[in-house]
Amino acid sequence: MNSTVALIVLLLPLASYALWPLFTADAEDSTEPVDESSTPALEQRKNAAYAALKEAEFDRRTGKLSDEDYEKLVARYKNQALEAIAALEKQRGADRSPGVPTGKAKFCAQCGTALGDGAKFCAGCGAKLAA
Ligand SMILES: [Zn+2]
Repeated sequence: MNSTVALIVLLLPLASYALWPLFTADAEDSTEPVDESSTPALEQRKNAAYAALKEAEFDRRTGKLSDEDYEKLVARYKNQALEAIAALEKQRGADRSPGVPTGKAKFCAQCGTALGDGAKFCAGCGAKLAA
C-alpha cells in the first residue's frame, strides 16, 4: 500500500513533465510571429488569391456579383497572386547558388556531368549523347 502511494507520488511529476510539451506546443505556435515573406506564407497568399478568383467567378455566374464588381475583384486578386508569384520567384532565384548556369546548360543523363555546347560524347563517362 505504502509502496503504491510512493510510486504514484514519484510518477505524477514525471508524467506531467512528459506531457507538458503537448500543452505548451499550441500556445507557442499561436504566438510565433508569421514571416510574411516566408515561402509558406507566400504560397498561402497565392493560393488564397486563386481561391478568391474562383469564388468571384462563381459569384458572377450565380448573379451575386455584377460584371463591373467582378472585373474589379479579378484585377485585385490577380495582382495579389502575381505579387506572391513574383516574390516566390525572387526567393527561388536567391536560393540558387551564384555561378551555376541555369539557362540552357545540359547534363549527362548517365553521370550528371555538365556538358559543353554541341558535345557528342559525355566528358565524364563517355556516353553517347542524343543530338
Ligand atoms: Zn556521363
